[in-house]
Amino acid sequence: MATSVDHTPVDIVDIANFDHEADVLVVGYGCAGAAAALSATASGAETILLEKLTGGGGSAALSGGEICLGGGTPIQQACGFKDTPEAMEKFLNAALGPDADADKIHAYSHGSVDHYRWLVDHGVPFKESIWESPTWVPPTDDGLMWMGEGAYPFAGIAAPAPRGHRVTSPGFGGKVLMDVLTQAVAATSISVHTDTGALRLITDGDRVVGLVARHFAKTVTYRARKGIVITTGGFADNKDMVKQHAPQLVGLGVTSDGGDDGSGILMSQAVRAAVRHMSAGQVGIALIPGMMVRGMIVNNVGQRFINEDVYPGLVGQAALYKHDLKVWVILDERAYEAVPEAERWGVTPHFVAETVAELEAELGMPDGALQTTVSEYNRHAAAGDDPYFHKAARWLRPLEAPFAAIDVSRGMAPPEYGDATGGAAEVFTIGGLHTTVDGAVLDIDGRPIAGLFAAGRATSGLHSWGYISGTSLGDGTFFGRKAGAAAAAG
Ligand SMILES: Cc1cc2nc3c(=O)[nH]c(=O)nc-3n(C[C@H](O)[C@H](O)[C@H](O)COP(=O)(O)OP(=O)(O)OC[C@H]3O[C@@H](n4cnc5c(N)ncnc54)[C@H](O)[C@@H]3O)c2cc1C
Repeated sequence: MATSVDHTPVDIVDIANFDHEADVLVVGYGCAGAAAALSATASGAETILLEKLTGGGGSAALSGGEICLGGGTPIQQACGFKDTPEAMEKFLNAALGPDADADKIHAYSHGSVDHYRWLVDHGVPFKESIWESPTWVPPTDDGLMWMGEGAYPFAGIAAPAPRGHRVTSPGFGGKVLMDVLTQAVAATSISVHTDTGALRLITDGDRVVGLVARHFAKTVTYRARKGIVITTGGFADNKDMVKQHAPQLVGLGVTSDGGDDGSGILMSQAVRAAVRHMSAGQVGIALIPGMMVRGMIVNNVGQRFINEDVYPGLVGQAALYKHDLKVWVILDERAYEAVPEAERWGVTPHFVAETVAELEAELGMPDGALQTTVSEYNRHAAAGDDPYFHKAARWLRPLEAPFAAIDVSRGMAPPEYGDATGGAAEVFTIGGLHTTVDGAVLDIDGRPIAGLFAAGRATSGLHSWGYISGTSLGDGTFFGRKAGAAAAAG
């Protein structure tokens, strides 16, 4: 995807007539777009939802379907966990920081139980059962999972409770989520215009009043009587933007539907919209969390660098930004066997040895480096302690022969997505348009741009740098609803 597409705004005086008109235009039919359109129409606004592809879904339809919710949802309660909005807020500020969006996190944490009900009322299924071990996506249809809330340092910052709510599905739940939201949209008066890619915003003075789009070979114009909501996803597929803003992500595989071209961000920047945290990325490191947590992750000189029970995306960020993704999972046979086969995604050890010294030599590490790490780990693990990185006691046990290593650079993929092609990590962008809690897009002077709203990965949502699974579908739908309602209010 190139940035050579013209996103320059068009002055209304240059528009002879509009082909379509509605109170609210929502651009992009992923999870944020569906939520924004549903909320705009529920607020009484005539709404058109534009989608550049032949159908809705976006990256949301490919996703794991994990939604970060908490504060005492019915599923948390049914599974025997106490949670409060205050604890959730503290956790998210720590996990998504440093300097995450405290106002958005406050609104999100305190509105989370209500948002759970909104999802359920629209038909999103969640099962009242928990998957206990760290994983990307549970190999069962369990509805609740941990996202590292019980790991250091977070467990000391906020009372831990599992907040990963997974849409009921035997595998990745994003398709179910988007099927349900698509049915909900179809049951309303929302007009869905597919094969229609927005290109340029139309302005009347300082106000955004419409857009120019492409429908196959035809240029079409849309007028928004009240507001436009940009929900076009992130920019990880736009190589020029990644080079410009997030150079450490260049060359890595992308976790998306291939359409994260940043067009909504660029169109908005062309009317002076501000952006935030554009260098931040979610790093889906190619390892099985259940293997790592039962063993350890080390860099290319055999040293651990993080507690292995945190959300694996945080491990991915540490591995990419500090160790250039040259990392190995070290484990023993017992640890490997403890991971259910359905959760292994076909990953088997690349190196096996009877001693750590042999393994270390096979991996080309300095003589004694891995031996020192394993011996120190084992010495403290025998006492249920990890003074180096504070992994929780439940995951600590001295590793014993035979030992194994997994080379993360060889990649892996969930069975439903086929062969591993993404290398050591796949990424998506977290930064985007600077918006208020209500979804108004701010300009570079910090003032709301009249008529322009946004939500989802096209925005810098709850996060600054950190990332926890479930916060994309979560902030996309939550702030999508807010942006839709704000746009409908004009
Ligand atoms: C394999 C995978 C697993 C994931 N797992 C999770 C998970 O479990 N939990 C979680 O929270 N997140 C997960 N994510 C991330 C999450 O899916 C995305 O961050 C999320 O879908 C973003 O939502 P969105 O509505 O902003 O964008 P999308 O869902 O990407 O929707 C954007 C839509 O806008 C359309 N569009 C783009 N530009 C234009 C334009 N100019 N005009 C018209 N239409 C346009 C696109 O075609 C697309 O349909 C996962 C992603 C993938 C790929």
